[in-house]
Amino acid sequence: MLIKDLFERKKVVYSFELFPPKPTSPIETLQKALDELKELSPDYISITYGTGAGIGDNTLNLCRLIKREYKIEPLSHLTCIHSNKQGILKYLKELEASGIENILALRGDVKPDFPLSKDFRYASELIEFIRQHGNFGISAACYPEGHFEAPDIVADIKNLKKKVDAGAQHLNTQLFFDNEDFYRFMDMAQIAGIGVPIQAGVMPLVKRRQIERIIGLTGVKIPAKISRMLAKLGDSDQALFDAGIAYATEQIIDLLSYGVRGIHLYIMNNAAVAKRITQNISSIIRGQ
Ligand code: FAD
Repeated sequence: MLIKDLFERKKVVYSFELFPPKPTSPIETLQKALDELKELSPDYISITYGTGAGIGDNTLNLCRLIKREYKIEPLSHLTCIHSNKQGILKYLKELEASGIENILALRGDVKPDFPLSKDFRYASELIEFIRQHGNFGISAACYPEGHFEAPDIVADIKNLKKKVDAGAQHLNTQLFFDNEDFYRFMDMAQIAGIGVPIQAGVMPLVKRRQIERIIGLTGVKIPAKISRMLAKLGDSDQALFDAGIAYATEQIIDLLSYGVRGIHLYIMNNAAVAKRITQNISSIIRGQ
């Protein structure tokens, strides 16, 4: 099912993100996690896409496994900044042949070791290309605090509108920890004429190492509340896990109370995180 149709049918769209194992590892390493995730009935699972030779293979393999064996809708990420039209077309054909309907179209981060694409500069160009070559549901990324390369949030939202105008039907946000940033972003997106569903991306911070990595990768703001939590509880794995789950639960309840229609959980392949969060919010998202 197309993700835009899920938003028509569901009170709240609820999904998880996984990253595939390295190209040299079998996807079966994720089988146990998938068995547990299936029990939580996500509306879809998104699978990240890396950069470099053979990287997309396990994204595709995992999407196929999720669709075929687990009967869950996969959302395949796809990056273009180090690809050409021929390679993207081949991937689209493979998705189509496997019955995979949804793509999260991304530019990707620029890796200095790889040559830049001669065909694609921005995600909006990939979106246009996908639209011309199939009937896929197309999603795109957005940034409540602004993308780190954009001069300011207004410029970034103008560029986001180009992705929607090019054919993006649904947006997933970068993770964020302060809901006020997200609400401000939603207001600005509405003023810019962006009318597609925007799903809030939440990452429960349950490991100390995760935090440094996240700041390094995304540059998102870490509120003082999280810094204090880390300083006080960082030495106990269980305490930090419990506190990270509590913080994310409170964040999600506030988002849902505000009227947000979609929650996307960045679970870092940790099914225990998905399980605890789902237990905490299921009566709210499923309206039971
Ligand atoms: P774009 O939308 O192309 O934007 C990139 C920058 O260019 C922004 O600053 C934007 O303001 C600017 N820009 C856009 N269009 C124009 C224009 N016409 N003129 C001037 N400036 C413009 N990375 C991966 O490698 N693999 C993944 O699987 C992955 N999944 C992600 C999932 C989500 C939900 C998110 C939020 C990010 C993900 N990323 C992933 C990271 C992403 O690739 C990076 O954030 C990347 O730097 C930007 O990708 P984009 O698609 O948002 O780029």
